[in-house]
Amino acid sequence: MSEPQSEIRHFSKNWQQQLAEAFNNLEDLCRYLNLSPNELPVSNAAAENFPLRVPLSFAACIEKGNPHDPLLRQVLPVNEELIVYPGFSHDPVGDLASVSQTGVLHKYQGRVLLINTGSCAINCRYCFRRNFPYGELQLSKQKEEAAIQAIQNDTDISEVILSGGDPLLLSDSRLTRLIRQLDGIGHVRRIRIHTRLPIVLPARITDDLINTLKLSPKQLIVITHCNHANEINERVITACTLLKNSGITLFNQAVLLKGVNDNAKILTALSERLFDLGIIPYYLHLLDKATGTGHFEVSETEALTLIRQLQTALPGYLVPKLVKEQAGAASKQAVF
Ligand SMILES: *Cc1c(COP(=O)(O)O)cnc(C)c1O
Ligand code: SF4
Repeated sequence: MSEPQSEIRHFSKNWQQQLAEAFNNLEDLCRYLNLSPNELPVSNAAAENFPLRVPLSFAACIEKGNPHDPLLRQVLPVNEELIVYPGFSHDPVGDLASVSQTGVLHKYQGRVLLINTGSCAINCRYCFRRNFPYGELQLSKQKEEAAIQAIQNDTDISEVILSGGDPLLLSDSRLTRLIRQLDGIGHVRRIRIHTRLPIVLPARITDDLINTLKLSPKQLIVITHCNHANEINERVITACTLLKNSGITLFNQAVLLKGVNDNAKILTALSERLFDLGIIPYYLHLLDKATGTGHFEVSETEALTLIRQLQTALPGYLVPKLVKEQAGAASKQAVF
């Protein structure tokens, strides 16, 4: 199926413009998807808590006219978000208090996580970041310098993870400055970037970005975030191929989400499709129990059943590790 003229025009623009034109209201998104807001369980209150935000590249992967589409479910503000579930809280992982001071999160041995920006190109309804004034987490130039200094001073740190929000929303100049500074720290062996942009805003993977990454003498790792094979379109393939061909190691993390990918066939297809692009499935996360996300929860028992099904359907290297995040633990917790 060929794309309409308006989409061709949109996708010929640069990534900043594409981002500025992302859907930010329900009416526009519904019109684009040939859906009536009346046939969807949408909630304005939910959208006020955490706004709707969907780039066209991702919206184009949603099946038109299907109110139950698994990609639509990830981005649509719905009534279920207002339900209060026991055990769900605002900061289930317990990270935010510590990170907001410095922008540096040093929880695990040898690895630090740098929160460079609180923004994302897409607002995923299941995200724990939905409950925070993440704008406050912007790493100012001063904080960034302090963070670099702290990494410089701690020779135990061998890996720096750029996270967020989405670190690839930083401008090329800021990103280049940051990476060049890390390049200068001898004990840092690896720079890892956690980003959903190759999937939801593939135009971000520009030649300039690739050149910045390629110039680094460190091992570069990009961890994408893709939950369903339908999220991978031609533009995503192009972006991931650019990353892959520049020598970057690619992994994917997904979140196990009810009504999205809680099915062995769907998870199998996701692993196969990712590997087609040279991406290795890394983690399958159990949901962080953040307020407003309870309707996405898949129980540990169900999750384990799914993993066992994947183990019979796929080679071992295409079975992601099932993990959960536990406040205070020294690593992600494997679920057996
Ligand atoms: C997830 C996470 C990491 C990375 O963990 P890996 O198991 O190495 O992928 C590092 N720091 C923090 C704070 C994390 O949440
Ligand atoms: S891209 Fe990641 S951090 Fe951003 S809203 Fe989605 S899940 Fe949350």
